[in-house]
Amino acid sequence: MKTKANDLRYLNPSLGLAEVPEKVTALGKGKMVRRKGLGPATSKCPACGTVHSRAVMEEQLYVCPECKHYLSMPSHARIAMLADQGSFIELDHGLVSVDPLEFADLRSYRARLQEARRETGVREAVTTGVCKIGGQRAVLVVFDFAFLGGTMGSVVGEKIAHAFEEATERGIPLVSVAASGGARVQEGMFSLMQMAKVAAAASVHDRHGLAFISVLTDPTFGGVTASFASLGDILVAEPGAQIGFVGPRVIEQTTGIAPPKDSHKAETLLQAGLIDLVIKRADLPSVITYLIAHLAKRKATDSAVEGLPPNVKRQRLPAWQKVGLARHVGRPSARYYIARISSRFLELHGDRWSADDPAIVGGLAQVNGQTVIIIGHDRGGTPEEKEASHDGKAYSEGYRKSLRLMRLASKFRIPVVTLVDCPNAQASYESEHRGIAHALARNLATMANLPTPIVSVIIGEGGSGGALALGVADRVLMLENAIYSVISPEGAAAILYRDAGRAESVSEVLKLTAQDLHSLGIIDTVVPEPEGGAHLDPAATADALRSHVLAALRAFDGVPTNQLLDSRYKKYRHIGQGGKFWREKVRSGLSDVFGLLAYAVSRMEKSNGKKAKALDVSPRIRPEKVRTPSASSTKRAAHD
Ligand SMILES: [Zn+2]
Repeated sequence: MKTKANDLRYLNPSLGLAEVPEKVTALGKGKMVRRKGLGPATSKCPACGTVHSRAVMEEQLYVCPECKHYLSMPSHARIAMLADQGSFIELDHGLVSVDPLEFADLRSYRARLQEARRETGVREAVTTGVCKIGGQRAVLVVFDFAFLGGTMGSVVGEKIAHAFEEATERGIPLVSVAASGGARVQEGMFSLMQMAKVAAAASVHDRHGLAFISVLTDPTFGGVTASFASLGDILVAEPGAQIGFVGPRVIEQTTGIAPPKDSHKAETLLQAGLIDLVIKRADLPSVITYLIAHLAKRKATDSAVEGLPPNVKRQRLPAWQKVGLARHVGRPSARYYIARISSRFLELHGDRWSADDPAIVGGLAQVNGQTVIIIGHDRGGTPEEKEASHDGKAYSEGYRKSLRLMRLASKFRIPVVTLVDCPNAQASYESEHRGIAHALARNLATMANLPTPIVSVIIGEGGSGGALALGVADRVLMLENAIYSVISPEGAAAILYRDAGRAESVSEVLKLTAQDLHSLGIIDTVVPEPEGGAHLDPAATADALRSHVLAALRAFDGVPTNQLLDSRYKKYRHIGQGGKFWREKVRSGLSDVFGLLAYAVSRMEKSNGKKAKALDVSPRIRPEKVRTPSASSTKRAAHD
C-alpha cells in the first residue's frame, strides 16, 4: 500500500494547508522526524514548577531532571525516541480535521484547531507512520496531548484505523503511545463512533496474528482507553501515569467523592491485573524491541541441540522421604529455574480482569535462543515472599493470568513451558466466590486445545486440580524428588482413617512419586536430581531441567498443529494406558478372564452343553477395558 502522504480527504478548504505552520511539513513525506525545534521552547514541570528549555527536555526525554516527574512528550520527541534514526515515514500527513457540526462553545472548534496547530507544530492529536524499531519494521501511532488534550475526533480515528490497516496489509506489528483525554466533544457522535472504528481495525490486525503493543502514558482516558488502547497484546504504562475511563476529577464532580490518591495510577492498575508492565521511559525502546522480536510467529527453531545429562540409576527413596524433599524449605522455586534456564525473561502481569496474583509467575523468555512462554506457580523464597504469594496456592485470577499468557502463546504459536509447584489451589471463601473451579476448568479445556506445544514440569509439590490446571501438556516431565497427587498424604489419611498421623503409610499407597507415576503412565519423563535432592545443587538441577525441556520441545518442533492437538487429545483420552503398571494390570486382568472362561468351559462340558450358563460370564468382559496400549503410547514409552 502506498503511503497517503498527501491525502486530502479531510482537508477543509476554508482552513487550507497554508494555515499549517511551514515547519510541520518537515514531518511528512518520508522526511525524518528526529529533528529538534518543534513544540514549546520551554516546559514548566507541573510537579515542581521548574522551567526547562526544550534542549534540556529533549535530552532528558521530558522527565524533569529536578523531581523526576514525567511530562507529556511532544509526538516528534516520542517518535525520535522510539523509531530508528531516519526510518520514520509518516502516514496520512495530509489529513486535517474539519468542523462537521460547526461547533462553538466559548470559542469555535475551528479556532481551537488552528491554535492547536500553531502551538504544537503538528496537524492533529495523533501522528502515524511506518518505521523501524530496533531494526524491526513496525507501524507507530503517537499521540500529542498538547493538541486539544489528545482527544480522538474523526481524523484521529481515521489515522489510527488506517495505521492498523497498513500494519495488517504489511504483516507487521503496531506500537501505539497513547496520551488522551478521550473523545473530542466538538465532533459529537462522530467522535464516539471512532471508538468502534479503531477497535474494529485493531481486531482485524489481531485476527491476522500480528503483535500490538500499547503504551499508556499520562494521561490516557475515556474513548481511547475504552477502545484500541486497551486491546494490546501487551499493555505497558509509564510510571505514575493516570489511566482510566472516567478521570478522577470528573468522578469527584459527578459523585461528590474524591477517589483515593492511588486511583487511576499505573501502579494501581498493575496490581489490579489490568496492565502487563510499568516501564521507565528510558527503558521503553529496549522493552518494545524485545517484545516485537519475540511476539512473532516462528518457523522451526534452529537453536543448537544440547545433549541430555546421563541418567544415573539411584536407589529409590521411600515415598514419605520424597514428600519431605518436595517440601524442603531450600528446594529451588519456579523463579529460580526461570532465571537459570533463560537468557532473558520479561515477566508479564495480570489477568486483565481483577488482579495480578503473585502465586503465578509468567512471561516471555528466551531459552537457548528460542522464545517460550514460561508459566509457573511461585511459592516465593523468603518468608515475606511466601506470604505474598500465599505459598503458590493461586486464586482464580492467577489461573486467569496463566490463561491469558497461554492465549498470547497461541496467537504467536510460541511453545509453553509450565513449572508446577503448588500444594493445592486456594481453599477459602474468597477463592470460591472468585470462581476457582471455573478458572481451573477453563485452563484444562484451553490447554487441551492450545495450538502450540506445551511442556510441563512438576518441580516440587503437584497437588490436586491446582497443579493439573498448569499440567495438561504434550510432554509431562517430573523432577525425581517431586510429588504429584490427587490429595496431600495428610488429607488422604484424614479422609480414609480420620487420622492425619497415618500420612506416611498413605503416601506410599497414593503412588505420588515420579517413578510410580512414570510406571502408571501419568508422566512421561523423570528428570534426575542431584544425590540428596535439588536443594543440594540447584544449579545442576536447573541445568538438567533445561536440557530435558529443550529435548521435549525439540520433539514437537515443526509438528503440524492438527497432529499436535490430536495426539494431545489421545494422550489424555487414554491416560495411563501406556504405563508399565497398566500393562501389568491388563495382563493379570486377562489371566483372570481366561481363568473364568476356562472354568466356564469346563462347567459347560460337564453340564451337557447348557450354553446359557457359559454366557453368564461373558457380559462382564468389556472389550474396550482390556485394550492393549495404543501404538503411540508404546512409542512414547520407548522414547523415554
Ligand atoms: Zn519537576
